[in-house]
Amino acid sequence: MLRRYATARVVQGRLKKGEDLIEGLQAVMKEHNITAGVVTGIGAVSSARIACLNQQTKQYEEKVFQEALEVVSLRGNVSLKEGSVFVHLHVALSRADFSVVGGHLLSGSPVYAFEFEILCLEGEPFTRHFDEETGLFLWKE
Ligand code: ZN
Repeated sequence: MLRRYATARVVQGRLKKGEDLIEGLQAVMKEHNITAGVVTGIGAVSSARIACLNQQTKQYEEKVFQEALEVVSLRGNVSLKEGSVFVHLHVALSRADFSVVGGHLLSGSPVYAFEFEILCLEGEPFTRHFDEETGLFLWKE
């Protein structure tokens, strides 16, 4: 399953210190009317709230890291879910001892500094629908 986009534009920017990472990016999507796209970024957060899907229970297990972390890599995408713009982001975060943790980003991760690029795709966005097999909202035609 794939979709082709003939045109795209790029929005590049920086979030403010103290802003929630995911909510800040969602606000950029709203401001620029982005419904399909690719998100990348690097920076630092004051703490992080991330999740990992337990594939047995099909439930996300959350963990909060109450420490300063580098955002080594943030990657994600933009599509529609239940009629609203949905930003799906994963992060790799490094700790003071240089070890790395990562997962599915949730709100509750305040920015220390963050630089991002959004590749905005011009065309029909994917729409997420609940998938019984995985327990996830996946892209469907
Ligand atoms: Zn995810």
